[in-house]
Amino acid sequence: MCWLYCHRTGIPVIWIGPTQFEGMSAPMFGCADCIAELEHMIWRHFVRKDAPQTPASTR
Ligand SMILES: [Zn+2]
Repeated sequence: MCWLYCHRTGIPVIWIGPTQFEGMSAPMFGCADCIAELEHMIWRHFVRKDAPQTPASTR
């Protein structure tokens, strides 16, 4: 089963790493479509982090 956005079952999934919640850890799996979306979100995170703060956005 895909643990990410689509929750589909019966599709090929890839182990994407352990997740921890309240001291418990579980393996997470995602399908190719959702992993592509996740990679896109991670990429956006780093792009935003590296972007300089623009004074115009605070005014
Ligand atoms: Zn999925």
